[in-house]
Amino acid sequence: MQCPYTYANGRQCTGEVYRARAYGKHDGCGRVERQNIRKIRLWCSDRGDHVGAIRPSSLVYKERMEFYPDQLEGRGLLAEAISLCDNISKAGR
Ligand SMILES: [Zn+2]
Repeated sequence: MQCPYTYANGRQCTGEVYRARAYGKHDGCGRVERQNIRKIRLWCSDRGDHVGAIRPSSLVYKERMEFYPDQLEGRGLLAEAISLCDNISKAGR
């Protein structure tokens, strides 16, 4: 999926997200059920975490490229981001 990061000058990052990881209440092995996802971290093929380029006022906060699910949903990227997560629990499906 396309990297959702936007630079301070408004330019959209042209990188691809190659990996994602879900954060939230997990099962002890790091696996998170979909309904427990609180944040999703993304890694970009272009700039990794975009560390150093991220400002508090941007869509992204902190020094990692992390999003709340509703931020990704608002951009139509949630399902794709979840499919890239390597630690979504399959329990209960
Ligand atoms: Zn990027």
